[in-house]
Amino acid sequence: MNAALPVLSSAVPAYQSRSYDFAEYTTCRNWRGGALVDAVSGHTLPVENPRHGKVMGHVVLSGQADVEAAVHAAKLALPGWKGTPMRERAQVMFRLKALLERDMDELCWLLSAENGKTYAEAKGDIDKGIECIEFAIALPQMATGGGIDVSRGVHCEVTNEPLGIVAGIVPFNFPIMVPLWMLPNALVAGNAFILKPSEVVPYGALRLGQLLKEAGLPDGIYQTINGGRDAVEAVVDHPAIAAIGFVGSTKVAKLVYARASALGKRALCLGGAKNHVIVVPDADLELTAQTAVASSFGCAGQRCMASSLMVAVGDVQHIIDAMVGYAKNMQLGKDMGCVISQAARERINAYIDQAEKLGAKVIVDGRGASLPGADGYWVGPTILDNVSPDMPAGCDEIFGPVLSIIHAKTLDEAIAIENASPYGNGAAIFTTRGYVARYAVERLEAGMIGVNIGVPVPREPFSFGGFHDSKFGHGDITGMDGFRFWSRPKKITSKWALQSDSSWMS
Ligand code: NAD
Repeated sequence: MNAALPVLSSAVPAYQSRSYDFAEYTTCRNWRGGALVDAVSGHTLPVENPRHGKVMGHVVLSGQADVEAAVHAAKLALPGWKGTPMRERAQVMFRLKALLERDMDELCWLLSAENGKTYAEAKGDIDKGIECIEFAIALPQMATGGGIDVSRGVHCEVTNEPLGIVAGIVPFNFPIMVPLWMLPNALVAGNAFILKPSEVVPYGALRLGQLLKEAGLPDGIYQTINGGRDAVEAVVDHPAIAAIGFVGSTKVAKLVYARASALGKRALCLGGAKNHVIVVPDADLELTAQTAVASSFGCAGQRCMASSLMVAVGDVQHIIDAMVGYAKNMQLGKDMGCVISQAARERINAYIDQAEKLGAKVIVDGRGASLPGADGYWVGPTILDNVSPDMPAGCDEIFGPVLSIIHAKTLDEAIAIENASPYGNGAAIFTTRGYVARYAVERLEAGMIGVNIGVPVPREPFSFGGFHDSKFGHGDITGMDGFRFWSRPKKITSKWALQSDSSWMS
């Protein structure tokens, strides 16, 4: 390890606040070799609490030397971890689950402070991450490989080997869940994992380090490299890092995928989304209106599975009217959090202004929203009617609480609109008729489809991943695909008895 970087502490302080009130927190240093260290650059970036628009702490900015030191620590720890039976590795995940449950309240307030989501949304973030841990706990039962006698006396078997040192790069919107899409599978598979958290929300990943250590994970097997683009490039380029999992915007997903692939690395890079929800006249009024509103505006629309575009087929005005009622009733700060930054608020408002200028009707207007006592980055629920597919609000990912409505005469027209989108993360159909649902499910071009479900995230054991510009690389990021991504099958053919009728294998 770099001698110039003394270990500062092996304890991450607990976040003390238990409310939405503003509170400062520690400097987010790198978690290396089971301890906190500064970055070599000595530079830091402010971390804002977006609800209050105030700096709650700082995060270190890492580069190549920090990655080198983390790889060194990982190399020291890896043989012991790789040699630990999978069953024992899974026990660490058992304990991590219990520790996350123990510290749930603290972690929810911490995630809420760094991300701006509500307490309930933060709890959802961690709960969904725990489901991924539960899946990985079951890996010793599921990832058993297999074997048969392929000829007399000749046995063929397959085992799953870890890749070695692997890395994940994650976005701001789910500070614990997205790292847990990758970590549990990668660790139970026997790898050492380096995480590059979002520099905007670095604290959840730091607390994970402390909890994993408490759960018994050997030092050096989970580490963080904080920072932005320099840190990402240093992680992707390091020759000892064998595989890269990425989740973030399509622009960066493409860049990271190209960079990692050019180096011959295994890469799976999940990108952005524009999820279409098709509503037909027979859709259930209450279910559709409530679900669509929750999907579009929950987490302030900052979910890659948020429904950001509704295709209204025929006359569904009664449903739109009900949605307007529900959206207007949402209480900022209670039912819905803020957006991540001033830049995000400006970008989202600019999309609304532009759509209005281009002829869309703003039937619920979230511009200018504010919350007394919390002077942060608020945008209220916004519904834009009469959007056309070629307007930026009809095709770009806005990543905020904005639902664009496009009208279509027929279901085929609606499906064609969805199919023309370059994204393909999620799509949903709201109908009370099975054959309509089936017709749409078969034709929608998205990796995750909802039928009367607004956020069709596959729950474990089913795996998460979209199509087209929402995912670069093969397979999905969670479930068994996730395990396969972080491991490689080794085929062993053995013959122990010498026989006179031996086959071509002899
Ligand atoms: P982002 O792409 O800006 O950042 C993601 C990660 O990439 C961060 O760790 C960041 O530090 C790094 N990064 C940013 N710019 C980079 C560059 N030029 N070169 C190298 N690395 C860079 O995304 P975000 O704003 O943090 O998150 C929001 C985006 O993530 C949305 O587009 C959303 O749809 C997407 N997302 C997708 C999924 C999915 O499963 N498909 C899930 C969550 C979020």
